[in-house]
Amino acid sequence: MENIQYDFGKNIPVIAETDVLVVGAGPGGASAAVMAARRGARTIIAERYGCPGGMAVFGEVTPFMHNLVENQSLDKPVYVDWCRHLHNYKTGAELAADPFTETVPNRPISKAEAALALEELLLEANVKMLYHHTLFDVIKEDDRIVAAVFHSKSGLVAVRARVFVDGTGDGDLAVMAGAPFEFGNEDGLCQPMTTCFKLEHVDRSIMPNREEINKIYDEVKARGGIDCPRENVLWFTMPADDVIHFNTTRIIRKSAVSGTDLSDAEVEGRRQVREFIAFLRNHVPGFKNAHLRSMAHHVGVRESRRILGLVYQTQDDFVNRAKFADGIAKVNYCIDIHNPNGTGTHIIGMEPGNWYELRYGTLVPRNTGNLLMGCRAISVDHALHSSSRVMPPVCSIGQAAGMAAAMCVEKNCSPAELQGEEVRKNLAIAGAWL
Ligand SMILES: Cc1cc2nc3c(=O)[nH]c(=O)nc-3n(C[C@H](O)[C@H](O)[C@H](O)COP(=O)(O)OP(=O)(O)OC[C@H]3O[C@@H](n4cnc5c(N)ncnc54)[C@H](O)[C@@H]3O)c2cc1C
Repeated sequence: MENIQYDFGKNIPVIAETDVLVVGAGPGGASAAVMAARRGARTIIAERYGCPGGMAVFGEVTPFMHNLVENQSLDKPVYVDWCRHLHNYKTGAELAADPFTETVPNRPISKAEAALALEELLLEANVKMLYHHTLFDVIKEDDRIVAAVFHSKSGLVAVRARVFVDGTGDGDLAVMAGAPFEFGNEDGLCQPMTTCFKLEHVDRSIMPNREEINKIYDEVKARGGIDCPRENVLWFTMPADDVIHFNTTRIIRKSAVSGTDLSDAEVEGRRQVREFIAFLRNHVPGFKNAHLRSMAHHVGVRESRRILGLVYQTQDDFVNRAKFADGIAKVNYCIDIHNPNGTGTHIIGMEPGNWYELRYGTLVPRNTGNLLMGCRAISVDHALHSSSRVMPPVCSIGQAAGMAAAMCVEKNCSPAELQGEEVRKNLAIAGAWL
């Protein structure tokens, strides 16, 4: 590929200065910002899009997967607060019939209400929002980040902070700051991407069960009528009776951190969406009059980089149900690997009532002086990532990063100097179930 020289050397305005700067307002980054601000740190969150929520909003992902023990959420307080605010968008009659409870196993998400609810948490905590700011670069002195550089409608701008949290999901900030990372499985392949969509006007009274739909899918696929590597049709019901959510397209062997791959993935995902709509209308009872209700405006990314930290955890910790004095999040959710290379989904469940713990050091990237990971891109292997990546635990990862960032500001120390045990203790005081 040809290279062309482009000179970045120019002065740019510093538009803000803060204690904690979180980049990326998905479930992880937003939880980090809420916790840092609740702890009293002056906190800014920068996000490339116009609202918070990440994959729950622009990736149209639903439901929040279960991460419960003894019918309690393992992801208090921020995730549960988010769900409570989300629940409050029900009408008065609905609220009376269905009061809020933590114990919903797989909670359906309305993406618009999820954005509103998460923004409420950020506003309540007094977080300053910088929407429509895409991370472009960092300015460093030795191993410390001095400022993050963003591209916005104003051109390039900088934000100074004392501590930075990477909430980009892909570890963009950490990589710009020089942190090492892993990518995908032993063959360098990540879990597939998926374009999620919803159909409405579905007649549920005649819609077949999962087994029957999969049988029709296999037959049509065998005749060449649909071209998707996924082994079955993955769908979820929604509170509206005539709406079905599909998480079933499968885009393989594309990198979510390659601009051109990501663009190609969007085209392939929507090609499959068109095919699925035709397949469902033409072959599956109940879908004859179905319409596209909504669709992800960004292809869903399950996995990309995993930033290497002071601690590295593996599937063994899932197998051994490992607990640690410096554990900052508890996870009961299964190992859940959608085949990066084609057909099949590898699942290893965990018995109810048990969990493994993620350690503080998985959030502290190597080679960086004032950075924490507050998103799915933490220091774990491909298999463990497939379990810890779902949104409730990611909120716990985020809130731990936010707590640690605020503690670094208070103590004037680096994330590496903090004791994980103390972070755990302060999270418990703030309402975490640790
Ligand atoms: C298809 C699919 C299905 C899934 N199904 C489920 C499910 O059913 N239940 C469940 O709980 N989880 C599910 N997950 C997992 C879950 O959605 C993600 O792992 C989770 O959203 C990760 O949260 P995050 O905050 O780490 O990253 P993200 O949700 O990706 O958020 C990252 C945020 O950072 C922003 N950002 C990224 N780069 C930059 C940049 N350079 N500058 C500024 N901002 C930036 C993004 O715009 C985004 O808002 C699914 C994921 C996918 C893709």
